[in-house]
Amino acid sequence: MRGVVTDSGARIGARVVIDAGGTQNQLAIKAGIRERFTAESIELYMIWDHEMARRDVDEVFGHTMEFFHAFPEEGIGAPLGYGSTLYIFTYRDSIHPGLGQFLVTQGDVPNLAKLLPRYFETFTGRLERWKKDIAPRARLRAVMWDVCPIYAGLIPETRRMPFHGDGMLITGDAAGFEASAFGDGVPNAWFSADIAAGVAIEAVRAGDASASFLARYERRVRAHPFIIHTISDRRRWNMRDLLAGRDMREFKAKVRDHWGIGAFRYRNMGGPVLKASLAALKERPAVAAEWAEMFRRYFRNWEENRFDPLSAS
Ligand SMILES: Cc1cc2nc3c(=O)[nH]c(=O)nc-3n(C[C@H](O)[C@H](O)[C@H](O)COP(=O)(O)OP(=O)(O)OC[C@H]3O[C@@H](n4cnc5c(N)ncnc54)[C@H](O)[C@@H]3O)c2cc1C
Repeated sequence: MRGVVTDSGARIGARVVIDAGGTQNQLAIKAGIRERFTAESIELYMIWDHEMARRDVDEVFGHTMEFFHAFPEEGIGAPLGYGSTLYIFTYRDSIHPGLGQFLVTQGDVPNLAKLLPRYFETFTGRLERWKKDIAPRARLRAVMWDVCPIYAGLIPETRRMPFHGDGMLITGDAAGFEASAFGDGVPNAWFSADIAAGVAIEAVRAGDASASFLARYERRVRAHPFIIHTISDRRRWNMRDLLAGRDMREFKAKVRDHWGIGAFRYRNMGGPVLKASLAALKERPAVAAEWAEMFRRYFRNWEENRFDPLSAS
């Protein structure tokens, strides 16, 4: 890697390039460092964007988001462990119900363009919560889709792929860091970007951007308390075993443990969060005040209906 060429043709030289280009970008593949994600680890996710008055969002959802689980025969989502459950994310003046399924499921290539809308139709046609409380106040504005690498960390081929090369460091979704445990890729994108920035600075100072120097990035990512733990957690994946047993009690316990309050147990997300927080506090104790201020800022923004300015401005 010697730098990047922008869409307008400008050439920007760099000793180290950090690829933070997400799932669909091909940079690391073109650089010969990584290969395509396997289809079993890529989920197509559809979102039905509905307008909803802010007052209604508050009244119907409060400060919560909702998710719905079902067995496959109910037809409102991918079989357990083979896709995301049905979520409703709330925003200021809108809500986003959405669901996803892997491009290859149980060896088959499902027709997701048909299947996902069919699941959603069954959901909206059957769920009293949707019909009574939500639908009368919501108006469909757009249908969107995206892809995300949900179980990439569980698939040995993907897990073995490097995330650095000569002059290049790869972060976030581009490196397959999306958390299989929670479907949350944002924290790992932040953590890996932070580590990559530190290593890039060291490489520039040392005048050495070779793959062997940059290997310290991989070592630090692997030693991080949150990244590897969350990308290699099989609990949600293992929900597929429940399909054979049909034990409703176990089903509810697992839902609570993987999506509800149980997710914060020490051995689940609690431990990695605590360890990552303590490491950050040790490095810079003042960060505690910034975290507190972050929540204040969120609520102030919400109350005043404003957004933070872009950090680049
Ligand atoms: C529907 C959906 C719901 C999700 N929900 C959650 C959630 O609730 N919580 C959570 O933590 N995570 C969630 N995720 C995952 C999360 O969005 C990703 O893990 C995270 O955004 C990854 O960050 P990133 O910076 O690596 O990549 P991205 O956020 O994908 O950013 C990459 C950026 O690079 C740009 N880019 C690509 N190629 C180039 C190029 N050649 N030149 C210039 N720019 C380029 C892209 O346009 C993009 O803006 C969700 C993902 C999806 C698809």
